[in-house]
Amino acid sequence: QSELKDKMIEAHELAAKLYHYILMNTAHGQEALSYLRDRGINDKLIEQFQIGYAPTQWDTLVQLLEKRGFSLEAMEQAGLLSAKHQQSGYVDRFRDRIMFPIWDRNGKVIGFGGRILGEGQPKYLNSPETLLFNKSKLIYNQHLARPHMKRTGQLVLFEGYADVIQSWDAEVFNGIATMGTALTSEHVKLMKRMVERVIICYDGDNAGRAAASKAIPLLEQEGLDVSVAMLPNNMDPDDYIRANGAERFRHAILSAAVSPVKFQLLSLRGDHILLEDDGKRRYLKEALKLIAPIESPTEREMHLAELSKQIGVTIESLKQECFDLRQKLL
Ligand code: ATP
Ligand code: MN
Ligand code: MN
Ligand code: MN
Repeated sequence: QSELKDKMIEAHELAAKLYHYILMNTAHGQEALSYLRDRGINDKLIEQFQIGYAPTQWDTLVQLLEKRGFSLEAMEQAGLLSAKHQQSGYVDRFRDRIMFPIWDRNGKVIGFGGRILGEGQPKYLNSPETLLFNKSKLIYNQHLARPHMKRTGQLVLFEGYADVIQSWDAEVFNGIATMGTALTSEHVKLMKRMVERVIICYDGDNAGRAAASKAIPLLEQEGLDVSVAMLPNNMDPDDYIRANGAERFRHAILSAAVSPVKFQLLSLRGDHILLEDDGKRRYLKEALKLIAPIESPTEREMHLAELSKQIGVTIESLKQECFDLRQKLL
């Protein structure tokens, strides 16, 4: 099995070189290269992240692997090829996609994320689960970010490859991402071995905020110190950096990351219409549930003061309600 694994890794390394070569040096790669440059992914980043292009032909990789004596059956198991339908033989799994190599912690290529050029479904085609590629344990960019995570004691958790890559260009070197799937306790245990603090920097949309809400307790359970960076609505970190620059991303977004409770309160605030009494009541009820369990009385008071301004009731009455709720909870 370890021999098979070695072969699979060798094939991934080879495939990554092929895709990168096609992107940078052939006519087939032209359109993909323009797409990347238009997206603000410059040649330095393309090199650093070994981005490539899988051409439209059915057998570009099949041919190379065959020539180099790889078992095509094993290469299907590795997730690089697909078996043909209703006939024998194999075709390339990835075609007409921008290829983002995914490395293990030692910097060996063990999978790919393949993005369609422009619109279309599925937007990303990732490697399937294989002997090498286990999404629930994989951290994208771990090998490059590790020294920076250790040095700073902190990591920035993004949703996508594009966010990690763009933020690297913005000199945020401790950025990582999980692979589209949710954060798992295995991911968190790996993080805990490298850092004490995590800044969640997910997309500024409902999906991103929902994912952050789920990630917070997982990270806190492991004793990590969590904060949440908030992006303007419907922007992700990649969009933000391209629109507003690296400086502002680091200072107005990352450095302005808020505590998990503040994040929950702000998300809650966005979900309720405070012009109506009913909306106010519902918001107040949910907000108190978040504030009441906070240990620090001064922190509780700061949140209550904010709440008092927002819904136009006195802080004294809020304190009383908060106190009552706290009694019930404890
Ligand atoms: P882009 O900027 O290229 O449009 P993104 O990184 O902003 O991509 P999101 O839609 O925010 O993409 O998704 C975040 C991550 O989720 C992606 O990087 C990818 O890992 C994963 N993902 C997205 N769509 C799919 C899909 N259809 N299948 C599998 N994984 C996906
Ligand atoms: Mn998203
Ligand atoms: Mn996104
Ligand atoms: Mn994006």
